[in-house]
Amino acid sequence: MGLPEVLAHIRAAEAGAGRSPGSVRLVAVTKGHGAPEIRECVLSHGTFALGESKGQELRDKRAELGLLGLHPQWHFIGALQTNKLKYLQGVSLVHSLTRRDHAAELARLGDRWGDVPDVLLQVHNGEAQKQGVAPGELRAVYHEVSQLGLRVRGLMVMAPEGDRQAAHRIFRDTAARAHELGLSELSMGMSDDYAEAIGCGATLVRVGRALFMKDTAQSRTVQ
Ligand SMILES: *Cc1c(COP(=O)(O)O)cnc(C)c1O
Repeated sequence: MGLPEVLAHIRAAEAGAGRSPGSVRLVAVTKGHGAPEIRECVLSHGTFALGESKGQELRDKRAELGLLGLHPQWHFIGALQTNKLKYLQGVSLVHSLTRRDHAAELARLGDRWGDVPDVLLQVHNGEAQKQGVAPGELRAVYHEVSQLGLRVRGLMVMAPEGDRQAAHRIFRDTAARAHELGLSELSMGMSDDYAEAIGCGATLVRVGRALFMKDTAQSRTVQ
């Protein structure tokens, strides 16, 4: 595995689903990987949006890669915390908005930065431990967040691990909800289930592990 293989799989899944080439964008999830590794495994293959799930980690890598002359698009995909929203300066898309108060703070900070990130609303997937907006509240939250001056581009969802049937149902339902709201972006699918998500209409896949996997013999000697 690695980025070229993942891209080939994405293109194959697009074709398999009868979707046009390039309709799915890869967000390379770089959490836990340093700037040199990101440069080698991701940015040497082209221009990709990078996804991070911790504010400080994003801020530090943005600075480090900047020193190397690399200025990728940054997406934030992790749980939001009020006192850490300040680290999201320079982020173009937040995938994980779930709360109105976070939206208000993000709009306030964006005003100050002169650069307000676009957002996706993360949808609750029905599992107890996962965060997200309850499906029944999506429309109301969408309108409130829009009124705060944030541009809601679409929905994001996370599927339970290792349950393909549940994943398929969650991806399909989320696609239907985005359609109902007239939203075009769908962030769904990770290393284990991005092909499934593309089949259900994902436009953004958030892939981490599969990009950085060395072949097994190699990674065994490294670990
Ligand atoms: C880590 C993470 C991913 C990527 O997961 P992989 O299994 O490494 O592909 C995607 N989305 C979110 C929200 C994550 O935290």
